[in-house]
Amino acid sequence: MPSNRFLSSLFLLGAVLSFSAGSALAFKTVIIDAGHGGRDLGAADSYVYEKHINLDVARRLERSLKEAGFKTVMTRTTDEFIALSERSSRANRYRNAVFVSVHFNSAYRTSAVGIETFYRTSSSENFARYVQTELIANMGSTDRGVKTANFSVLRHTKHPAILIEGGFISNRTERGQMMDPQFRQVIADSIARGIIQFNRRRF
Ligand SMILES: [Zn+2]
Repeated sequence: MPSNRFLSSLFLLGAVLSFSAGSALAFKTVIIDAGHGGRDLGAADSYVYEKHINLDVARRLERSLKEAGFKTVMTRTTDEFIALSERSSRANRYRNAVFVSVHFNSAYRTSAVGIETFYRTSSSENFARYVQTELIANMGSTDRGVKTANFSVLRHTKHPAILIEGGFISNRTERGQMMDPQFRQVIADSIARGIIQFNRRRF
């Protein structure tokens, strides 16, 4: 039968191990939401559809985050329609997670360009800032800033949650960039870096 002293040192070791694991990764799971899908095309111009770009960037982001040691959950992995409420209820099944929704923009004024990141509550503001900072540092795009918005997926997801608008499909130059797989890879890697930064500095 182990002595009380042995039991208490085992307990301490467990506490130290779980503390260090916890501080290495404040959250372990990233829920990746590729916007639109199926009959919901999202923005569209000159046969470029937002739903396809979103899914491609989401898949690249999934790969980068897995390599960094995160668990990932995709709200969709194919070109299918998923209701907004279903996206957040899928996300809310997980604990210790953050939520990132990937979108591209469109505007009537075709000269509109740049990247912006939205959040809803103050608990997600730093998350938005880390990701936006990485995107602007790596993409060479116009910085449209970090903004609040009452989007459904941000409102109904219980995790720290952001929605990225990664450029304008309605702008000829940015649309051209989006067609380049290397450009989409840099977007995905920048989002991943922002998530890693947020995870390290959250506490
Ligand atoms: Zn969209």
